[in-house]
Amino acid sequence: MALAEIFRQAAAAVKRASTMVITAGAGMGVDSGLPDFRGDQGFWRAYPLYEPLGISFISAANPDHFERDPAFGWGFYGHRTNLYRTTIPHAGFGILLDWIARFQLDHFVVTSNVDGQFQKGGFAADHILEVHGSIHFLQCTLPCSPAIWENREAIPVDPANMRAQKIPACINCGGVARPNILMFGDSSWLNDRTAQQSKRFDNFLHRSRKPLVVVELGAGTAIPTIRNLSELLGNGNKATVIRINPREPQITPPRIALTTGALSGLLQIDSALTIQ
Ligand SMILES: [Zn+2]
Repeated sequence: MALAEIFRQAAAAVKRASTMVITAGAGMGVDSGLPDFRGDQGFWRAYPLYEPLGISFISAANPDHFERDPAFGWGFYGHRTNLYRTTIPHAGFGILLDWIARFQLDHFVVTSNVDGQFQKGGFAADHILEVHGSIHFLQCTLPCSPAIWENREAIPVDPANMRAQKIPACINCGGVARPNILMFGDSSWLNDRTAQQSKRFDNFLHRSRKPLVVVELGAGTAIPTIRNLSELLGNGNKATVIRINPREPQITPPRIALTTGALSGLLQIDSALTIQ
């Protein structure tokens, strides 16, 4: 099928929908200039200082650092916090909001990204499920209590050694705080905030009007949580699933696969909507 025809089909699915679920993985941030940590080489391109130390993304994203060497742990997460705080979400976020307004779509975002870019891009916080938590929230490393609070701290990081020059403290015990993110090999992540978001999403699905369209953006196969959810909604909720992915677009027909980046895919669907 010609590519233009596939974009027309995607546009038609958006236009006739009453409800849109946006599912997103790391590829959604790439067009805003964010690294997606694809493989060790991808990680070391973003964080070259870790290559000679032999530190991969999986070993950097480990909660043990906050106990053993908080300045190292916060070096990586402080750098990312600062990066996400200063990043401007790309135009694709605005295109999605425009469709929501134009076609009066009930909507919800489910993202594996911890970067807070959907909130920053203008989506309401109570319409977002962050399945792996958010870097913009903190919890105690122990944890000493179930408290989860917003990270309002400045965390300067020395770029010469990637060590944090200030360590956020727990609001209860004064010990080391950590990001409220599910890391690798993580048994102390407090999932209460994500569980509340998940409950809101379940309620949303329960009352959602048909037809439902799922727009999946940049969700990879390495950790397939987001892809599995999109397919589940396609099967259980009879949603039309539009998978936008430049490298791994595979999905069973009649679902729609668009082999392109997130922003490019959204722009082309948007053009097809204008023509219709
Ligand atoms: Zn504490």
